[in-house]
Amino acid sequence: MEGKKVLMTGNQAIARGFYEAGGLVAASYPGSPAVEILESIKREYRQIYSEFSVNEKVALEVAMGASFAGARALASMKHVGVNIAMDPLMTFTQTKTAGGFVLVSGDDPGMASSQNEQDNRIIGKFANMAVLDPCDSQEAKDFTKISLELSETYGMPVMLRITSRLCHSRGIVELLDREEKPAEGFKPDKTNFNMIPPNTFKKQFEMKERLESLSKAAMDLGINRLEKGNGSEVLIITSGLVYNNLMELNLDMPVLKLGLVYPLPLDAIRSLASDYRRLIVIEEMSPFIENELKINGIECEGKSYFSFTGELGIEEIEAGLLRAGIFEESRYSGKMGEDKSVPPRLPLFCAGCPHRPVFDILKKSGRKVVGDIGCYSLAGIFPIEVLDTIISMGSSLGIIKGMAKAMKLSGKSEPLVAVIGDSTFFHSGMTGMVNMLHQIDPEDNMTIVILNNGTTAMTGGQHTASSGSYASEDDMHVDLEVLLRAMGFENVRSVDQFKYKEAKEAIDEEIKRPGLSIVIATRPCALRFKIREPHFYVDPNVCIACRNCIRTNCPPLRMKKYEGIEKLKSSINPEMCVGCSVCSQVCPVGAIKRADGEVE
Ligand code: SF4
Ligand code: SF4
Repeated sequence: MEGKKVLMTGNQAIARGFYEAGGLVAASYPGSPAVEILESIKREYRQIYSEFSVNEKVALEVAMGASFAGARALASMKHVGVNIAMDPLMTFTQTKTAGGFVLVSGDDPGMASSQNEQDNRIIGKFANMAVLDPCDSQEAKDFTKISLELSETYGMPVMLRITSRLCHSRGIVELLDREEKPAEGFKPDKTNFNMIPPNTFKKQFEMKERLESLSKAAMDLGINRLEKGNGSEVLIITSGLVYNNLMELNLDMPVLKLGLVYPLPLDAIRSLASDYRRLIVIEEMSPFIENELKINGIECEGKSYFSFTGELGIEEIEAGLLRAGIFEESRYSGKMGEDKSVPPRLPLFCAGCPHRPVFDILKKSGRKVVGDIGCYSLAGIFPIEVLDTIISMGSSLGIIKGMAKAMKLSGKSEPLVAVIGDSTFFHSGMTGMVNMLHQIDPEDNMTIVILNNGTTAMTGGQHTASSGSYASEDDMHVDLEVLLRAMGFENVRSVDQFKYKEAKEAIDEEIKRPGLSIVIATRPCALRFKIREPHFYVDPNVCIACRNCIRTNCPPLRMKKYEGIEKLKSSINPEMCVGCSVCSQVCPVGAIKRADGEVE
């Protein structure tokens, strides 16, 4: 294995780096762009204990416990997941780590798969952690190992900050053998692990000292490098994937490529700055490096030429450098003759998705619906457009309650509905659910629909606490109805949304019922559990072209011209249909039939 070169995504390379470094415990909550780190560990490196925890806070705590016991540990999550983990993280960084600890934050410039853009270099600084920013898959692997070493050398948790493009793009990675790093066991030290005063006062100063000593050593670690080029007018400072894009311009200019973006090697940069007339910082999202330099008295320029949002591709970098007057005519964009634009495509619910009938029912109800985060957030966009709010994981339950209270006080009460997926419910919906037990009266007419598909579908089908119903290998099997009743809720009912008429009656009834009701709509995710029944077809001679089936928005359905029939009639692509039967149940004239002749 030693020395073998393979193609790996950034995520796979991080998993490999953790394995080679002798990592023992890894935990995560699935979230794009970082989800494949743990997927890869689970699949390839069985020596490591790994788990998808119920949320990022718990994942961080699991990895933190392993580090306390002297093991090398990793917690990975998407950028907004770090917000969930912030509470323990802010105190954890006060302690001196025992086993090396790396927190991988998957940032998403441009919001390819996220509700916001969030620059977690700032969180790293806020939490007093060192922050490393790799530029390709090889560095992603190397920096994972370096993060663990720095963590042990300086006694601090380290953040490895990656961006979505690096997570998913492939590069050549040289494999090395695993170095075994057995855990030494937990060695109690109340002054280090009991973070209550007076222990914490001393720890605040220790954090600062650790960062100062790392800043001084930063240029000797081999991860920040000065690339000499022609001229002494301008020094470009950059890091991460932006460096690769900059290199595509073939500028032959001096570049300081940072691997460690916090703390910065300030003394070294200050001394370099005296050799150049201008320092230009090129970085995605916030002016993090630029601000760090400025508040430390080092003059530089940056965001006045480059966008504060989205990715900085080659063209954006070139445009910024043109604005900065570094060169006068475009070298790259000018050569790009062809039109690279692609037609926009809307994301769709899958064929046979158990969420579609629920949203069809809710759309017909005409009620305002509070949404949450998950694959079902697609119901917020065209053509379904049922969800009226989508904010953050688990927030729907607090939002609907606040909305109901405010509307009642203003004399504008009306029945409200909230939807939340099973994974999101276990992630951070449960606390909002418990809060529902406080000061609810019958005039607060709220219906919570829990969309229980047994998986975290949006990120590729990781388990949830209720997956055990469908996945025999899964050891978690929490029965939602039993749990909710045990929590103290009375109006709880379960429906099978593929029995469309019954599900519609149940949901409509609960919307009419005063007070709080909960409907658990349960059907397994068609994709994750590979559901495939005999397909359905349309008899065009029976079809009256009412488009009821089309409005369920299942991808195999479309209107088409049949030979000898003038009017457009519905049809089903048999290759795509998974045979859920929902379209046949909404057809008023029985025109849609199962291919084997039986309709449920
Ligand atoms: S039966 Fe109808 S609704 Fe179900 S997957 Fe096939 S086309 Fe879609
Ligand atoms: S619901 Fe039935 S009648 Fe209406 S378009 Fe579809 S197949 Fe035709």
